[in-house]
Amino acid sequence: MPELPEVETIVRDLSKSLEGKIFSDVIVRDDFLLRQRREDFVRRIRKKSVAGISRRGKAVIIGLSCGSFLVIQPMMTGQLVIDGQEDRHSRIVFNFSDGTRLLYNDQRRFGQLRAVDDLKDVPYFNILGPEPFAAQFSPAYMAWAFRRSRRPVKNSLLDHTFVAGIGNIYACEILFRSALAPRRQACRISEEKIKTVHRFIREVLNEAIAHRGSSMRNYRDGRGRKGAFHGRLAVYGREGLPCPRCRRAVKRVIQAGRSTFYCGHCQK
Ligand SMILES: [Zn+2]
Repeated sequence: MPELPEVETIVRDLSKSLEGKIFSDVIVRDDFLLRQRREDFVRRIRKKSVAGISRRGKAVIIGLSCGSFLVIQPMMTGQLVIDGQEDRHSRIVFNFSDGTRLLYNDQRRFGQLRAVDDLKDVPYFNILGPEPFAAQFSPAYMAWAFRRSRRPVKNSLLDHTFVAGIGNIYACEILFRSALAPRRQACRISEEKIKTVHRFIREVLNEAIAHRGSSMRNYRDGRGRKGAFHGRLAVYGREGLPCPRCRRAVKRVIQAGRSTFYCGHCQK
């Protein structure tokens, strides 16, 4: 599943390529992904130009010239590809007046697309916590949220109402760098340690953005390429392989239905 760094990479690629272009037509090959009637979706986008592209959590927001928005949540397997080859997973084709196009491909069809006048009409945005790079996401905010939580810290990092955009891969990596056991109760973590976790949340995400994300399964950036952070993962997907710090085997446990990778020796 694309997480914040992967979606940020897509947004930066799309910004460079699409800003100012005019949607000449929208071809919907699969209504299932739309959260409104096809005619309404197409009508709101056609003949509008791309005013700007941004991200909130794991959603791509394409601002349209009329002041409305095209919001795309790629979820598990969605891909936005500029000028790629159509294949059987190409669900929606956005054609531009200059002859170029943007494909929305989605193998498993969990993605959601909406054209809305107001971002409040996207349910996901109404429950989402602060962005990890926003001033609001401070160590003091984290301490406030952690004091109220008896859940394992890993589950807190994955909670979108607490912080936007962190998924399973980066939660594991952040906890490894923080030398913090993933099963530790959030309310039992010291203020000092919370500052460490806060610092590594931003560090890991920034590094992953700089390397254009990690390529697990289907992720491709806006140019159809894989991300390069994959090779830098310390624990995620590395069960049984040596911990980069102590060389003991990386362990895997299941937490809230998701695999957690960690080093039992380095993370306390
Ligand atoms: Zn270790």
